[in-house]
Amino acid sequence: MPERLRVLAGDCQVTEHGDRSRSYRGRVVVLIKPDDTTLVHDADGYQPVAWLTRPESVVVEGDGAGFSVTARDGGRRLRVVSTEATASRALPVTVAGVPVGTCPADGGALVRSHGDVVCLDCERRWGLPAGASVTDATCDDCGLPKIRVERGEPFHLCLDPACDPMEAAVSERFDRVWDCPDCEGSLAVEFAPGRVYLACENPDCETTLSIPSGVVVDECDCGLPIFETAAGRSCLDGSCQIAGHTAAKTRE
Ligand SMILES: [Zn+2]
Ligand SMILES: [Zn+2]
Ligand SMILES: [Zn+2]
Ligand SMILES: [Zn+2]
Repeated sequence: MPERLRVLAGDCQVTEHGDRSRSYRGRVVVLIKPDDTTLVHDADGYQPVAWLTRPESVVVEGDGAGFSVTARDGGRRLRVVSTEATASRALPVTVAGVPVGTCPADGGALVRSHGDVVCLDCERRWGLPAGASVTDATCDDCGLPKIRVERGEPFHLCLDPACDPMEAAVSERFDRVWDCPDCEGSLAVEFAPGRVYLACENPDCETTLSIPSGVVVDECDCGLPIFETAAGRSCLDGSCQIAGHTAAKTRE
């Protein structure tokens, strides 16, 4: 079930108490968001006349003839009392995000919002790996959009990690491909919730290196790959001195 936005309207007395105390009177619309953020809008501009963002409490009282809204947050209080009510409704609302496809389960719109993809109908939510983009292709198995994510090279995976785990794809390609910079061991692909990284296979060695969001473009003199990321080129080993030396030489 989508969350509800309460909409109340009428000729109202609006009172603010707190660092400033003011009173207004007018035909206004009161919006109470699912997180209790309370906004009082009049006819003018985009800005509310009065508001409280995520207050500690909101109490709505009233009947068909009138209503009162009291929002409190610490020492601040916003109170709206109708002298004549014209509307009181609860409307379904969801997040709004960039459309990225269609939910195969119910045909609902999929939108990208705050690093997640959300279905506006069933409200299922899939987290995106850092740096991932959603593509126009769809998964042959489940019908969800495919994502493109760079971890050494571009991988095209199902949005649902249960369908097409990034760990398996990266592991298949890069497990024990590079040597540990600190011992004779190789670097194995390991994973923790939401990220994949490299760890030395030697149980006595504690070396771990994160795999940046980028592609391998070269090999460093130390033997490890050089990644091209949004931030530029660098050795997989962030502390590698050779890479810094090479970069300095290129600039001369
Ligand atoms: Zn859905
Ligand atoms: Zn799939
Ligand atoms: Zn090692
Ligand atoms: Zn290096």
